[in-house]
Amino acid sequence: MEKNNQRENNAEENNQTIKMEGDKWTTPDMPTIPFTYGDGIGPEITAAAISIMDAAVEKAYNGSKKINWLHVDAGEEAQKKYGTGLPDETMETIKKYKIIFKGPLTTPVGSGFRSLNVTLRLAMDLYANIRPVKYINGLDSPLKYPEKVDMVIFRENTDDIYTGIEWPYNSAEAEKLREFLKSSFDVNIDHDAGIGIKPIGKAKTQRITRMAIKYAIENNRKSVTVMHKGNIMKYTEGAFKDWAYEVATKEFRDKIITEDELYSKYAGKMPEGKILFNDRIADNMFQQIITKPDTYDVILAPNLNGDYISDACGALIGDIGVLGGANIGDNGGMFEAAHGTAPKYAGKNVANPMGILKAGELMLTFMGWTEASELIAKAVEKSMKDRKVTPDIARYMGVDALGTKEFAQYLVEAIKTA
Ligand code: NAP
Repeated sequence: MEKNNQRENNAEENNQTIKMEGDKWTTPDMPTIPFTYGDGIGPEITAAAISIMDAAVEKAYNGSKKINWLHVDAGEEAQKKYGTGLPDETMETIKKYKIIFKGPLTTPVGSGFRSLNVTLRLAMDLYANIRPVKYINGLDSPLKYPEKVDMVIFRENTDDIYTGIEWPYNSAEAEKLREFLKSSFDVNIDHDAGIGIKPIGKAKTQRITRMAIKYAIENNRKSVTVMHKGNIMKYTEGAFKDWAYEVATKEFRDKIITEDELYSKYAGKMPEGKILFNDRIADNMFQQIITKPDTYDVILAPNLNGDYISDACGALIGDIGVLGGANIGDNGGMFEAAHGTAPKYAGKNVANPMGILKAGELMLTFMGWTEASELIAKAVEKSMKDRKVTPDIARYMGVDALGTKEFAQYLVEAIKTA
């Protein structure tokens, strides 16, 4: 706790906030970044990731840049202390600094309170869920050539069936809707059918499309593929595709070429410096990410497709425990591992911090500190090559495992001596 207070004091003294104007992030040399340890294995993996990120920033910039970590309370500890998992003070701090590096938080089943993750996402309007999935040599992938997997999924986070507009088959609302649809549009819905509504809006589609294309441009990715089921859901998923093309061809004309243009104008050969913008029907996409994953790079999807494809892509590399991601909006970002609190491993020094570290890499990339981010990626690759890994990976490598702390120390050393 003393250490946290110290960090907090430092943060106050050096009050420097990351600025987000539209999609542009401006990062000062000593930004204040709030973090929370999370529940279960959260404290161990978050502390490990922070020590590794600090080492990478120090090495990359010789001390001219540094993160001032600011601890905020959230989750079970906050619940005990303040009677709420997300105290107002925490929310204010996150909104002030616009960013949170977050350990996993427990969502009690059936206790009546909304997931803290969802609350944070809505409060900050974090409309893009971004998950990079890249094979790391040594993971136990089910694919023959897993090294071909290197994709980044942009999942729309605020629209689609996740808006929760639905009614049980036997509710008064469902009955009323059935009557309305029959009398107004002569549409029949079975009397025993529940009803859900799937809204997909133009503004929400276009803002995430802009973010995905900009990410592709800034990170030298080769394509952006819209994944949709527009052949069936024409005015929701089909419209998502059309609105995405509109942004691509009107706002990024000089940067992108469409698949039609690739063949009609360039004889199927990608011109230098351009990004291919195309689309695929969702079912086709699922088989293609398995049979030819190297064909796909940035994937842009509405909420439900994005949910499915994120985990399917994760499975391709053999271990979704090493995945991290970000939820990003125009006014903030939340960076976290893809996995949860794994309570059975809490406090045992066995949890793998690679997932939250991946989120850290992504955070550094968004901050523009790519040199530090690359140092982390290289150190992780080295750890796999040297077979210095935590128990979850050691068990299929057949080697002795390192504890969470020892693994973090190994990575810090690897970064220092890189
Ligand atoms: P989980 O915490 O992801 O754990 C499931 C299993 O994944 C673990 O038993 C373990 O598998 C493995 N695992 C996950 N992370 C690991 C790590 N870092 N190192 C080693 N192994 C790891 O999923 P859950 O048990 O369904 O969820 C537990 C709690 O987390 C729930 O309250 C849930 O709501 C919450 N959750 C939070 C977030 C978030 O904060 N964003 C996300 C997901 C879930 P083995 O048993 O095979 O070793």
